[in-house]
Amino acid sequence: MNTWLPAIDETKCNGCGLCVAHCPTQAVAWRDARPVIVQPERCAYCGMCEDLCPQSAISLVYEITSARSGAV
Ligand code: SF4
Ligand code: SF4
Repeated sequence: MNTWLPAIDETKCNGCGLCVAHCPTQAVAWRDARPVIVQPERCAYCGMCEDLCPQSAISLVYEITSARSGAV
């Protein structure tokens, strides 16, 4: 299971529903009239919800990796 999950800031969310409508795995759905990661095991961490959200209410944590190759 993915242990990193998108964080949804409900104070920014305007309820537009884009994240629920476009999540390719249905990991996010409505619960009590707000979007919630209801099936965390299904989240592919694709970042689509973060990209779509007009309120910047969804944020994913990204791992910083070196762009250099061959260096250890
Ligand atoms: S990161 Fe991708 S799979 Fe996970 S909740 Fe967002 S849109 Fe769905
Ligand atoms: S896309 Fe953003 S503003 Fe729209 S319902 Fe999802 S979290 Fe809320």
